Amino acid sequence: MIESTSGIASTKDVVEELRGRSAFVMVSHVKPDGDTLGAGLALGLALKGLGKRVAYFQQDGVPRNLRFLPDAELVSRRLPADLPDDTLYVFCDMSDWRRAGEYLPPVDRANMLDIDHHLGNSLFGKLNYVLEHECSTGSVVMHLLRELGVPLDERIATCILATIMTDTGGFMHSNTTPDALELAAELMRLGADKEQITEEIFLRKRVGATKLLGRVVEKMRFEHGGRYCYSYVDDAMLEQTGADGEDTEDMVNTLLGQEGVDVAALFKAIEGEIRVSLRSSGRINVQAAAGRLGGGGHFRASGLTYRGPLPDAFPAVEAALVAEGL
Ligand code: 5GP
Ligand code: MN
Repeated sequence: MIESTSGIASTKDVVEELRGRSAFVMVSHVKPDGDTLGAGLALGLALKGLGKRVAYFQQDGVPRNLRFLPDAELVSRRLPADLPDDTLYVFCDMSDWRRAGEYLPPVDRANMLDIDHHLGNSLFGKLNYVLEHECSTGSVVMHLLRELGVPLDERIATCILATIMTDTGGFMHSNTTPDALELAAELMRLGADKEQITEEIFLRKRVGATKLLGRVVEKMRFEHGGRYCYSYVDDAMLEQTGADGEDTEDMVNTLLGQEGVDVAALFKAIEGEIRVSLRSSGRINVQAAAGRLGGGGHFRASGLTYRGPLPDAFPAVEAALVAEGL
């Protein structure tokens, strides 16, 4: 197997690897989003079309708003017991295999394929197909689908379009390149259901979620001359509003959207764990800030898990942001 000196595998090498295996597990990251799931479902559909066996591993389950994705009902924490030894585990949209969670059975590096678009991917696979300039992992997968030469039906197209719309924030973020829009147009022509993706992922909210957003907005605090906005969610707020952790997904964007704000953080202290979502308008690298606390992501969108009490998490994250120029 020839790898380029950068450590990034070529499209041909990855496709050769895919053709050489009979069984696959598509692995998505904990607290999955439309990119990690859509990318794996699309590639899984293509591989099944080639007569391959495909299973799907996901530790936390599919969120309500992504259950419309084709084959989402096949995604599970439990894997079939009779998978062959040469099963290839395909990790989609994660900078390190540990993002798959602790329930994934042990996998040899020789059986790991890493497909991603994050900055700072740890290149953990036998092959690492990491294209940092792509807007989504699904658009990375698109290169593989073209090289495989499989027919692109409306189910595959819907999965890939869902990855693009998820990671561009419905074509709003700065990664919405002309290439991303052209690919989206191609996918719509193939039958991708943009209406459904828009409705399910972006528009429909539960009443409890909207009430929770109100609480989060009430608790917003502004620091650094109004350039840093943060807020939090805890179990009591979920209880009071009838919302749950899934409903908090895009709330950090409301914080970033406040006038004058360069960086936003939403702290989610839920069921004994503190998850922090960071968003940047482009001046501060929040991937680097999250990296200081063991997390990661992208320049403008990152996350981390804070180990310690919530009152300590606030200054720790602020210090990491200050170290990155806040
Ligand atoms: P979110 O705030 O939506 O959970 O995550 C934003 C981005 O940061 C996503 O691209 C996600 O994959 C990445 N990210 C979130 N949490 C972590 C983490 O704990 N570790 C790493 N490496 N990346 C994360
Ligand atoms: Mn992604």
